[in-house]
Amino acid sequence: MAERVLRFAEALGVVLAEAGRVAVPAEVESVELLHAVGRVLAEAVKANRDQPPFDRATRDGYALRAVDTGAALRVVGQVRAGEVWCGAALGAGEAIEIMTGAPLPAGADAVVMVEHTAVERGVLWVEPGRSLKPGENVVAQGAEARAGARLLPTGRAIGAAEVAVAASCGRAELPVFARPKVAIVATGDELVELAEVHTAGAKAQSEGEAMRPEAEASGYPSVAGAMIGAAEIYNSNSYALAALVRGEGGEARRLAVARDTVESLRERLAEAKGCDLLLLSGGVSMGKFDLVEQVLTEAGAEFFFTGALIQPGKPIVFGRLADGTHFFGLPGNPVSTQVCFHLFVAPLLRAMVGRTVIAPMFSEARLEEDVKGGAKVTRFLPAEMTSAWDGVTVKVVGWQGSGDVSANARGNCYCVLPEGVEGFAKGEAVRVLLR
Ligand code: AMP
Ligand code: MG
Repeated sequence: MAERVLRFAEALGVVLAEAGRVAVPAEVESVELLHAVGRVLAEAVKANRDQPPFDRATRDGYALRAVDTGAALRVVGQVRAGEVWCGAALGAGEAIEIMTGAPLPAGADAVVMVEHTAVERGVLWVEPGRSLKPGENVVAQGAEARAGARLLPTGRAIGAAEVAVAASCGRAELPVFARPKVAIVATGDELVELAEVHTAGAKAQSEGEAMRPEAEASGYPSVAGAMIGAAEIYNSNSYALAALVRGEGGEARRLAVARDTVESLRERLAEAKGCDLLLLSGGVSMGKFDLVEQVLTEAGAEFFFTGALIQPGKPIVFGRLADGTHFFGLPGNPVSTQVCFHLFVAPLLRAMVGRTVIAPMFSEARLEEDVKGGAKVTRFLPAEMTSAWDGVTVKVVGWQGSGDVSANARGNCYCVLPEGVEGFAKGEAVRVLLR
């Protein structure tokens, strides 16, 4: 198979182009408003009536005619939020006490704030020198939206702001796209599932043969109380990926760990059938037992790229299986896996959940310390961003490389260091990848 290693921007371009061709999910379901949070609107939300539905007072005060501001006014009544003024239309020299959110009585064209008035024996005076324009402290009926206007488009991810709009239109349920099913396969002979049970010191080894992981217990019990082998590693990637997939509105299906054998990988590929996206982790580097690309190739996969000039994450592969299902072969190092998810998987997955805004989320921050540059690849270093009123700063966290999950968790973003730049000075603005 021909290698195709792309620079970061090219690789992202390939993913975004593929994402642009992804069809929105065919299935739509109706869910309760709050269950729609984190999902994606499958139909536009339209205003069910004018918004506001009446000329709305935006202040507590007095409804009046703006031209009457300088005169002594007779207070003829009161209208509270939720009430409609049923008396005669307001005439010259009259005022009606009004509360925020109440409909403006007929005849009035403005509201003066209660703070700007004085009332003595039923006579209202507006503060001397204060003038009032027609429409002041009033939002006219339909000024925010006319009945039938599109308030939220199809493809919008639903958060609190969208919930507020839907609720303001009386919608107790929303139509959302079905979650795409994402198969997650971690690969590696060294991996142990969290609940997997091992017996300490099992299995005699034949002479000269390397110890199998379970043969030499480390003496550290796993959470389940069993022993984990000295050379064994808990499978953390499947869980990290499942969390990331869920966060993007997909349905994560964690399959059993694949061993570094052709047979085991084939089995998992077969089990992943029927899913909308396949994520593999590990087994895409140059090692003798990195067989993922080989097995994908023999299954008829098409590769869009087989590496990206990024660090961490260089060995990432992206392509499509014979049946059209997209796959990513993510590097096994846990930080690489997560960075590659944010950079490449998330955009594709966002398109698959039906979202229209899909690009990785970049922002900018000022460096708290100098950072060495000069790499031949674009680097995404775990970093801690601090947001303050006078600006946003970022500091790269100390780490032991792309296997260092704890360093990754000490950060809250990734500092982006583009390839070739000699160095980055304290105070300089750099790009950050948000997560
Ligand atoms: P690989 O990409 O398979 O060469 O793996 C690179 C490194 O990541 C090795 O140190 C692996 O032990 C580690 N690794 C691979 N897969 C996982 C996983 N699912 N969970 C935690 N660490 C992993
Ligand atoms: Mg491996």
